[in-house]
Amino acid sequence: MKIQNIFLPGAALGAAALLLVPAEESIAFTTIGGSLPTTQRDVRVFDNFADGQSNNNLTPVDQFPGYFGVDMAVWKAGVEWGSLPHGDGGGDPTQTNLGDGGANFDTTWQGDAIGIGGTNDNIVSAQSSCGGTGTLAFTETPISNGWRIRFCDEWTWQDGPGTIPGGNNFDIQEVQTHEYGHALGLGHSSNNSATMRPATGAGNISGRSIHSDDIAGVQFIYGAASASKPVINSISGLGYITILGSNFGSSNEIWFTQAGDGGNGVPVKVTGVVSGAGGTFLGVSVPATAGPGDVLVKNTPSGTGGATLSNAFPFDPSGVAPELYCSGKVNSNFCVPFLSFNGFPSVSDSGAFRIQANDVMQDEFGILIYGLNGRSNLNFHNAKLCVKTPFTRVLPPKNSGSSGTMGSGFCLGELRRNFNATIQSGNDPLLTTGQQVNAQWFYRDPGVDSFNDGLSDGIEFFINP
Ligand SMILES: [Zn+2]
Repeated sequence: MKIQNIFLPGAALGAAALLLVPAEESIAFTTIGGSLPTTQRDVRVFDNFADGQSNNNLTPVDQFPGYFGVDMAVWKAGVEWGSLPHGDGGGDPTQTNLGDGGANFDTTWQGDAIGIGGTNDNIVSAQSSCGGTGTLAFTETPISNGWRIRFCDEWTWQDGPGTIPGGNNFDIQEVQTHEYGHALGLGHSSNNSATMRPATGAGNISGRSIHSDDIAGVQFIYGAASASKPVINSISGLGYITILGSNFGSSNEIWFTQAGDGGNGVPVKVTGVVSGAGGTFLGVSVPATAGPGDVLVKNTPSGTGGATLSNAFPFDPSGVAPELYCSGKVNSNFCVPFLSFNGFPSVSDSGAFRIQANDVMQDEFGILIYGLNGRSNLNFHNAKLCVKTPFTRVLPPKNSGSSGTMGSGFCLGELRRNFNATIQSGNDPLLTTGQQVNAQWFYRDPGVDSFNDGLSDGIEFFINP
């Protein structure tokens, strides 16, 4: 086992900067020998970090579903070395793109471990002290059968995601991006802009984004991403998912992140999946043991090297939840109608997807409108039109009645419609899998103003298979 160095704090960087600014850009990366096979691409965290700041990022990010704090920071650090943008590449406010490696190298996020593991178990954790030597973190690198990364808890570790303060504060994501560079086989770089430079400063986050020198390094070890490497472009669906991309094999493994804590780092796999449409389409039922994380595709007939494994694509088996937005119109009983929903939108599911407005006027007729061009916030009839035109009216109108259970005062009207019936009727051929829909209830409210109408807020959702 080699202790593969240490990311040193502060002062060392200033000194190095004076000595090592090259006259022109040159290759500066180094390697330590060895590489990670596709069986060792898992990344896990044992979250024993002591600082509250290491786990106070609780903002959900759809490109990193289901994880927060140190977990999300470590996950981001791994995907930055990946071959392609992670999903849409978004999710970190300080970076334009996550997933810059362009090599035959991708990671599979495997969630939380329940211990620090051995030196080849591919787990990131903290240790209370590294002996006061100025070390921030270190990587133990048996290399071809794995690694272990420890963060030194003498320092205050920050989980981001934005900028972080100076003082004694260091950025988990930046330092993990560096340490993981060691795990995949890189040594230190003499390029002072590289993530693999030997030192960083308090409050610094620039190393979250790998530099062209780091990219040259990962491509040197693993090769630039092969033209035959499988590529995932999109994933849609819930219980049964559709994966669109290219270079899928005649037989494939689909890798998922294990649900819950305490997995062994091995992805949940569905094997023997046959591709369609010339290797551009895969359909697979999501195993019950799969959780939020990544999906990767391994083209099994074509070998075991890094070029047989796809990019990592974010996936949440609970799906993209419908989202409410915009605002309703105050009605003549001074209530503001509001939407809720139940079920999920689907072209095939026999259950209902109900879009419901409460706090509407009693015993009035209403119509659900929907559009396929996104959101609007247009001033309209003394309120907001939440659906971008053109929109479609779902007929016949519904009566709001007076038995709404969620309304207040004299606003006991309730309008609801099962939108799956609209999807599955076939009346609108554009209501297909993956289609984004924006909808809003529109109803009569005589006397409220010269328009005599009322509006709910809006809902946005995607249609599942
Ligand atoms: Zn280092």
